[in-house]
Amino acid sequence: MAVSKTHPAAAIRQAHAAQLQHIGENYLQEALGKMAELDDLPLVWHFIGPIQSNKTRTIAEHFDWAHSVDRLKIAQRLSDQRPAGLAPLNVCLQVNISGEDSKSGVGLAELPELAHAVAGLPGLRLRGLMAIPAPADTPEQRRAPLRALRQAMADLDLPLDTLSMGMSDDLDEAIAEGSTMLRIGSAIFGARDYSTSVAKDE
Ligand SMILES: *Cc1c(COP(=O)(O)O)cnc(C)c1O
Repeated sequence: MAVSKTHPAAAIRQAHAAQLQHIGENYLQEALGKMAELDDLPLVWHFIGPIQSNKTRTIAEHFDWAHSVDRLKIAQRLSDQRPAGLAPLNVCLQVNISGEDSKSGVGLAELPELAHAVAGLPGLRLRGLMAIPAPADTPEQRRAPLRALRQAMADLDLPLDTLSMGMSDDLDEAIAEGSTMLRIGSAIFGARDYSTSVAKDE
């Protein structure tokens, strides 16, 4: 997945010309603008930013995937608000794999109950797990949380096929630990400049 937050639609068009089809965005208003500009391309849109209740309807109506679901209330709203004419919204549960209090994501202890509840929602298709591990200095330190996410998915005993892990700084380790969906931003598009972007819309 090419993560294009803060980068213009023209950059996504170039990425598509280079065979990238899966596009990740964090900010809703920014994403909607790019979707409108790029609606001639067969892109698959992934929402990867924090999801508050007031965003669920727009996400359910416009995206193919949501990777950052970590509460049943949010999952229920996405399911209820998914338009009947669209395929179920593909969902990954974000797991707080590094165990930090401040990070979003469901804890490992609460994951099984949430996963089984979300798997039963008609408007959603639970595909797997996602994590944003804390930055780490050594390859082994980077691998440990990725390995834990893979193990957590295996332990769930659900028909899941997606491990959404690996960013620009840990993509080698994520591949080694079995990632099926890397989320790569700066290594594709270069550094982000938040001062000039339209990203600060929420
Ligand atoms: C921005 C972002 C990425 C991409 O990060 P890079 O380090 O630029 O590759 C991946 N996942 C999430 C959830 C992000 O917010």
